[in-house]
Amino acid sequence: SKADGRSKLRVFEPAMLHARQLRNQLVGELRQAIAGSQLVLFYQPVIELATGRIEGVEALVRWQHPTRGLIMPDEFIPVAEETGLISALGNWVLNAAVEQLRRWRTAPETSRHDFSMRINISAADLQRLEFIEDVRDALTASELDPALLVLELTEGAIIQGNELDRYTLASLRKLGVGLEIDDFGTGYSSISYLRRLPVDRVKVDRTLLSALGSDPAQPALIAAILQLIRACGLEAVWEGVENAEQAEHLRSTGCISGQGYYFSRPLPEAEFTKRLAQHDVW
Ligand code: C2E
Ligand code: CA
Ligand code: CA
Ligand code: CA
Repeated sequence: SKADGRSKLRVFEPAMLHARQLRNQLVGELRQAIAGSQLVLFYQPVIELATGRIEGVEALVRWQHPTRGLIMPDEFIPVAEETGLISALGNWVLNAAVEQLRRWRTAPETSRHDFSMRINISAADLQRLEFIEDVRDALTASELDPALLVLELTEGAIIQGNELDRYTLASLRKLGVGLEIDDFGTGYSSISYLRRLPVDRVKVDRTLLSALGSDPAQPALIAAILQLIRACGLEAVWEGVENAEQAEHLRSTGCISGQGYYFSRPLPEAEFTKRLAQHDVW
């Protein structure tokens, strides 16, 4: 009846309005956060399994909100992507990460380490021609060897695969930065992409380790995935390594490097720097 419809509407509308207000508020606050230095980077090491050497460091962004505390990227990256704020956010991450690597490489307490900086790139970045300029500018400002910067791109981002993406990837490649596929095994990856894309490395998604946990076929599947990556001429990094058995199993199966809570959670800058100063290997 008409009355029912109206009562439904009354229940529905305020909730919708509320959700939209919350979202508008979030977008406004995020814009301020990017401009007003509320973003921080945490750092997680990528470890060479055979030696324990730190071969890379992944920068992971967090939002230090003035009243709500530390907000994780899964809560605001999607909003940034939908609203176009991602380019400002991504450019902030790029410059902050590259500048941090420059500091580690020049400070006497940490300069003996030799590792690359990995940052996460959003699909929208590949669609912006200025992104290439942003990367070039950041590298010039820091005077870093371009090979020390590695961009992590999800399969989803790369596999949209239009002309502009291909142009951007090729241009980045020419700049000399490293390119890595992130979250491998979660999307619609195909062997032909692994062969064709101008990437050097593949980071296998952590779910491929945990989901296989109790499966009797796990060792064979891990070996097959690693073999596939190697056969394509690429190097494998496995993420989500949470215990010694996993680390040892991956090492003995020929995986070059690993990342995960077993080695370290993502750490704030001060803690990471202290660790670098005190240890030669992780
Ligand atoms: P991702 O690139 O796949 O990053 C790995 C995520 O797994 C991180 O979550 C990390 O803290 C977590 N992780 C690391 N080791 C382990 C482990 O052993 N076990 C488990 N269960 N988790 C582990 P985080 O920091 O919350 O980041 C989530 C996602 O947000 C990232 O996934 C990435 O897609 C995105 N992200 C983070 N920082 C940036 C950024 O600066 N720019 C963009 N565009 N995206 C970012
Ligand atoms: Ca990543
Ligand atoms: Ca990943
Ligand atoms: Ca992920």
